[in-house]
Amino acid sequence: MTEARVRRPAPAWQSGEVVEVIEETPETKSLRIRLPEPAAFLPGQYFNIRIPVEGRPRPIQRAYSIGSSPLPSVEVIEVGVKEMVGGLVSPVLVRNTPVGSTLEVRGPYGSFTWTEEDGGPVLMVAAGSGVVPFMGMIRYQRERGTSFPMHLLFSSKAGEFVIYRDELDELVSSTGWLGVSHTFTRDPGSPIPRFRRRIDKEMVTEIFAEVRPRIAFVCGPPEMVDDVERALLEAGMDPAAIKTEKYD
Ligand SMILES: Cc1cc2nc3c(=O)[nH]c(=O)nc-3n(C[C@H](O)[C@H](O)[C@H](O)COP(=O)(O)OP(=O)(O)OC[C@H]3O[C@@H](n4cnc5c(N)ncnc54)[C@H](O)[C@@H]3O)c2cc1C
Repeated sequence: MTEARVRRPAPAWQSGEVVEVIEETPETKSLRIRLPEPAAFLPGQYFNIRIPVEGRPRPIQRAYSIGSSPLPSVEVIEVGVKEMVGGLVSPVLVRNTPVGSTLEVRGPYGSFTWTEEDGGPVLMVAAGSGVVPFMGMIRYQRERGTSFPMHLLFSSKAGEFVIYRDELDELVSSTGWLGVSHTFTRDPGSPIPRFRRRIDKEMVTEIFAEVRPRIAFVCGPPEMVDDVERALLEAGMDPAAIKTEKYD
């Protein structure tokens, strides 16, 4: 596509078409959405999605990180949505938005971004769907052809709940610049993870000492983000080099 067709930024709502649905885990799906008005975005940014909800006068909107890379194309974006049981929007996106559906989306937004200008080594700390923006950054680096060291500390409930598991495994073995340390909170017998508990200070300190990050990103539930940020600061990380995104 030509630069002239890429708007920056894209503040207006537009109707995207769901062109692919990927079942990542029992509770998480990736939706690939074709945008009629593609917008340039940076790896790690997010879009808002709004849907009509019965009994509500106006559509309800939620933020979803972009899991895809802006390279080679921004015409189709991918979001990764984890179903929050009892929630208004995520259950509809996960269970009732098949290929061919239309979704109102608006974006991109956010400064939780990485490009080659930020350099590395990069430490990424994620819990659950907090991995989505990191996938955007990792896929971007693969497409861009740079090789800054990236390490993902990733907390999941158990093996079957690891979002992007096969792709992460493939990238770890094929790239040479990606490392992943899994921690599982509810699968004590699994041989896969390096750790078997929630992300805590000791874990962050251990990974920090190995990775020696120039920049660190933390994404997930607010409490986890705060705890990890504190642990990174105590480990000696420059506050200006820590970026956080809270999924509240
Ligand atoms: C910048 C940003 C990026 C994000 N990116 C992603 C992403 O990539 N993937 C992703 O999955 N999520 C992401 N999120 C989270 C997402 O925006 C939604 O918050 C999430 O999907 C839940 O929305 P929901 O409408 O389904 O649930 P909500 O309706 O907001 O409800 C959330 C939870 O609270 C409970 N609840 C609601 N009301 C009550 C009540 N009155 N009393 C008790 N409990 C209640 C519900 O049962 C549900 O479990 C992101 C958030 C932010 C801020």
